Amino acid sequence: MFQHHAQCHCGQVKIVCKGEPDFIVMCHCEDCQRRTGSAFNLGAWFNRSKIEISGLTKVYSRIEHDGIETTYHFCPSCGSSMYWDMPENTQMIAVAVGAFADPEFPQPTVSFYEHKRHVWVTVPEAIGRFTGSGKGEKITG
Ligand SMILES: [Zn+2]
Ligand SMILES: [Zn+2]
Repeated sequence: MFQHHAQCHCGQVKIVCKGEPDFIVMCHCEDCQRRTGSAFNLGAWFNRSKIEISGLTKVYSRIEHDGIETTYHFCPSCGSSMYWDMPENTQMIAVAVGAFADPEFPQPTVSFYEHKRHVWVTVPEAIGRFTGSGKGEKITG
């Protein structure tokens, strides 16, 4: 089966993902901007059974705008954001798309917190766009 390989900046944390992600979320919320140090966050969600993680991570948990707790795992050596999951749904894990450093990685399938999107960021056509998370108001797609 095809595998996607992710790793942190220093190489201490490595993630192997078997097959393609179930969905890929682009999030423009302020918390994701601050967490990533970038204009938006990009996470590829896989079933936990398709993922192998090696290396040590530290965690930071937050309550999202929609009330869901999320735990973010990052490399304690280089600080790279690696993956995140939600205690209320432990079957799924999001892997930071940047950690694959793969220009052929599939495009986002959904876009959250569109009202916080940097004005220059272009979202792929025909994907679901929401003002909040998936629980928010759908704009298009
Ligand atoms: Zn690292
Ligand atoms: Zn966000």
